[in-house]
Amino acid sequence: MSEVPSVQSPGQTESPGQTGSPGQTGAPGQTQSPWQTARIVRVEKRTPRVTSFFFEPSRPFAYRAGQHVDVRLTAPDGYQARRAYSIASAPEAGPVIELAIERLEDGEVSPFFHEVAAVGDEIELRGPLGGHFIWPDDDEGPLLLVGGGSGVVPLMSMVRHRAARRSTVPVVLVFSARVWDEVIFRDELIGLDDRGNGFNLVLTLTREAARRPADYSRRVDVAMMVRSMARLRRPPGLAFVCGSNAFVSAAAQALIDAGVPADVIRTERYGV
Ligand SMILES: Cc1cc2nc3c(=O)[nH]c(=O)nc-3n(C[C@H](O)[C@H](O)[C@H](O)COP(=O)(O)OP(=O)(O)OC[C@H]3O[C@@H](n4cnc5c(N)ncnc54)[C@H](O)[C@@H]3O)c2cc1C
Repeated sequence: MSEVPSVQSPGQTESPGQTGSPGQTGAPGQTQSPWQTARIVRVEKRTPRVTSFFFEPSRPFAYRAGQHVDVRLTAPDGYQARRAYSIASAPEAGPVIELAIERLEDGEVSPFFHEVAAVGDEIELRGPLGGHFIWPDDDEGPLLLVGGGSGVVPLMSMVRHRAARRSTVPVVLVFSARVWDEVIFRDELIGLDDRGNGFNLVLTLTREAARRPADYSRRVDVAMMVRSMARLRRPPGLAFVCGSNAFVSAAAQALIDAGVPADVIRTERYGV
């Protein structure tokens, strides 16, 4: 059996999502984006644990599907906490960027957003960051996306990018969530799946029965990957896997065991 690829995202190698020194994220050799303020212009609850915050940067920037930003909070005593958040919106969506943030009960930064942050607030952020976990515009696919929980966020940007470009590149998104109500972007994803234009959604619920006929009710495994990839008709040219450390390790190994070459698999780990 082959090993999980050592391919790592800049987020994984240089930004474990923790407080750190400047220069924490970004591709090696990448010029760091300067910090700037961004105003929260809209807040939308996505699931009981995930809320989307829409930011209008004071200096708008272009980005690519799959990239992230760093957010920095500063306490009155000067203490700073910094975390990375993937961009959920499509690059075509305009200057306002969507960050979908999951609340970790014992976390430092995510509870701030859920309990304190409000429309009109200004937050420090910088970006775009990340040079590896990006879907290239000239990629002709097929594309395999595998997300666990909030790990679907950068994949959502890719899915929205495909829709905005009216691309017909065959895509399968395998999205693992604990229960139906925790499927982030659920209605939008099912709506895109229903179009039947080459985007396929495979939901797998780990703590509930599947609700749709072709969905699953278990953790991702080799058989699920084989059957999901069959919807692409050809082997994927690229596979993006994102989520917690444990999810990414298990999903990447399942892909390799399903015959996907390690060099087409790109991973992004959110930490714990
Ligand atoms: C590139 C990238 C993109 C990301 N995108 C997203 C996204 O789109 N949406 C999203 O919700 N998250 C995303 N994350 C994760 C995000 O950066 C944060 O890690 C997450 O929000 C948790 O931050 P927090 O401050 O709330 O929790 P933290 O304070 O960082 O705590 C996180 C967990 O670690 C535990 N912990 C903290 N310190 C220790 C310790 N010393 N020992 C043991 N356990 C400890 C805590 O108990 C908690 O369960 C991304 C991460 C990366 C690297």
